Amino acid sequence: MTIITKSFGIKTKGDTDILDITQQVGKALKETQLKNGILNVFVPGSTAGITTTEYEPGLLQDLPATFEKLVPKTAEYKHNLTWGDGNGYAHVRAALLKSFFTVPFVDGEMILGTWQQIILIDFDNRRRQREIVVQLIGE
Ligand code: ZN
Repeated sequence: MTIITKSFGIKTKGDTDILDITQQVGKALKETQLKNGILNVFVPGSTAGITTTEYEPGLLQDLPATFEKLVPKTAEYKHNLTWGDGNGYAHVRAALLKSFFTVPFVDGEMILGTWQQIILIDFDNRRRQREIVVQLIGE
């Protein structure tokens, strides 16, 4: 069994920006030569999250609309009083979504559904440069 850690950088627009990172994760897997195991995709930081969806225009509107209903941007957050950075909503949304996603891989290919992409959602209230970590455990 081998453990390999890789990473790639990605620029986001913030404000619940949703980016398809499936290709970059797949590339990281290919570079390792590992055939079977699991990989974990992780975003360091407390205002972004990683999950999966079908990356199509409707859902790219539905997801931000749903986050806005669940955790409204303009609600009152104590965090905003602590730091005055105005991104309390971004921290709460990220905490609910979680910062990682795990995918099994077999014969060098991730086991994903045809319409299942891996997405990064950046909730912060400004543009960000994110470093995405892919840690692979396999052989
Ligand atoms: Zn903050």
